[in-house]
Amino acid sequence: MAAFNLIESPRKVAEAVYSKTILAGDGWMHDLLPGQVLRIVDLEGNQAADTLFYDADQPEDHYSAIATIAGQANVYLTAGSVLRAESGKPLVTIIADTCGRHDTIGGSCSAQSNTVRYAHEKLHMHNCRDTFMLQLSKREADYTKRDLAPNVNFFMNVPVTAEGGLQFADGVSAPGYYVEMQSHGRTTVLISNCPQLNNPCNAYNPTPVQVLIWNE
Ligand SMILES: [Zn+2]
Repeated sequence: MAAFNLIESPRKVAEAVYSKTILAGDGWMHDLLPGQVLRIVDLEGNQAADTLFYDADQPEDHYSAIATIAGQANVYLTAGSVLRAESGKPLVTIIADTCGRHDTIGGSCSAQSNTVRYAHEKLHMHNCRDTFMLQLSKREADYTKRDLAPNVNFFMNVPVTAEGGLQFADGVSAPGYYVEMQSHGRTTVLISNCPQLNNPCNAYNPTPVQVLIWNE
């Protein structure tokens, strides 16, 4: 297991230009300007913030887990990670992280994956894929369901075993832990604050996250 990489931010909450609480199961879609810094705060701990990134001027150039992992030669995301688009272009760089490790392999929950992972009667439950779709539909001039892409699971603990398998393990985050990233260009961020009731990552208890933005 890779070491946890903890870097605190010098930014003060009172100086943020934007603040919003995203309740569990809710979505949020927002454009970052070049140089702006986004912090996601895990308010109550062990929540999963499923997040997608797009080049706001070329939405088809979305976040790529493969380009990001290959670029840094590490499967986990933390401070120093450059989150890259399909084209290889940097979208955002993680510049502070008090959690220390985030997943980008596990994907987001969907009605289908809930039936496979947990039980068939989970089909009707809320899931991140539906939240992503709802948010994308609000900007249908620019985004369609074709823009659903691989995502980051901030605060989610998905250890990769020596054999290459995935484990959905107990969370490693805690109340108030955060991750902070700086945008390289105009970047659209799409968050689904996971409503997952079946996952030990969030102790079977989905909770709110907060987003804060600074201009630099
Ligand atoms: Zn989810």
